[in-house]
Amino acid sequence: MSTFQAPRGTYDLLPPDSATFLAVREAISAPLRDSGYGYIETPGFENVELFARGVGESTDIVSKEMYAFTTKGGDELALRPEGTASVLRATLEANLHKAGSLPVKLWYSGSYYRYERPQKGRYRHFSQVGAEAIGMEDPALDAELIILADQAYRALGLRNFRILLNSLGDKECRPVYRAALQEFLAGLDLDEDTVRRAEINPLRVLDDKRDAVQKQLAGAPALRDYLCEACKAYHEQVRELLTAAGVVFEDDEKLVRGLDYYTRTTFEFVHDGLGSQSAVGGGGRYDGLSEMIGGPALPSVGWALGVDRTVLALQAEGITLELPSSTSVFAVPLGEETRRVLFGVVTDLRKAGVAADFAFGGKGLKAAMKAANRSGAKYALIAGERDLAEGVVQLKDMVSGEQTAVALEGIVEAVRSRLA
Ligand code: AMP
Repeated sequence: MSTFQAPRGTYDLLPPDSATFLAVREAISAPLRDSGYGYIETPGFENVELFARGVGESTDIVSKEMYAFTTKGGDELALRPEGTASVLRATLEANLHKAGSLPVKLWYSGSYYRYERPQKGRYRHFSQVGAEAIGMEDPALDAELIILADQAYRALGLRNFRILLNSLGDKECRPVYRAALQEFLAGLDLDEDTVRRAEINPLRVLDDKRDAVQKQLAGAPALRDYLCEACKAYHEQVRELLTAAGVVFEDDEKLVRGLDYYTRTTFEFVHDGLGSQSAVGGGGRYDGLSEMIGGPALPSVGWALGVDRTVLALQAEGITLELPSSTSVFAVPLGEETRRVLFGVVTDLRKAGVAADFAFGGKGLKAAMKAANRSGAKYALIAGERDLAEGVVQLKDMVSGEQTAVALEGIVEAVRSRLA
């Protein structure tokens, strides 16, 4: 134990569990990479104003949870609390939306930071894989993203998740609804914070988790009744495309999500085995965000799936991913001369694309074989001075225990063909 520990609300990803995280990132991004999404990486911090304007001043994410700081040079920066604003900023800055045909389809994977009250499934440093389709209004894009997330979760073996779907309306109908809701909320007995929220972003009051507030909201005007014809038709198309793709979803009127930039389609993936932090991922359309950060009108849609919570969801369903051992061959030299020779063989194996490891530190046979076992290797390559003198190495099948002498000359090919 050292003097230091990981900061509160964070944890270290260590082998062997870290392999599951990598596999989850891989599984979430695979359908995106196969569907025309290009990889984007942006800095871990941005100008604080990007998030204030993009995510929204009234959101918890910006007002309470952002790691904002002033640099020595006087810049006001913040660790990124989410990915969308950065990805759109980068797209605009590089003019990706002018460079080729629209939509610009991007995916990302990285660390995000929110100063939250830590609990299971809620951390101050967490990991997301996200996707954005920028610059096009087409219900098929909304559907595509939901289908790809569903596909990713299913590929991981997850079954106990649900997709919640809603439409938040657009700049025509949402303000009308907002006003109606505000009028309704003004007649309720709400605490100071909630009254303030009702003024800035009344839709988020609908999302209040407290029973007492939910009771009062019973007769609130429903957004569904205020959607304009264009929004209704758009939403209906998204629903039809999902249904045609065999993706099951639930209409959820209350789904508004914690970020201000959403318009029309919003959705969330919730997992029923996670307790209070049940959202494993979410997203939606953000047609106005580009203009909010000083860009042209670029209707867009995207999602972010939480890697940490997806791993917890796997645990909740008792799913262990079948991860092939990363080491195929483990070399065990017995003696100085064989050490030199086998180390050379390991290097050659690696060059030939065979994952190989080595018993370092001149361990004795017993300790070295233990390391070979632990590595999960299919074969151990064992050699003593006598083997070398005969020009062979012992190839031991770690499962059957069977051991055969194989000529040192051409050993790489011999191992490769056995592994194939
Ligand atoms: P959001 O941008 O809040 O919709 O977050 C998208 C996804 O990121 C969520 O569904 C979670 O899976 C994950 N996520 C967000 N905040 C946290 C957190 N503090 N700790 C762990 N995962 C998080």
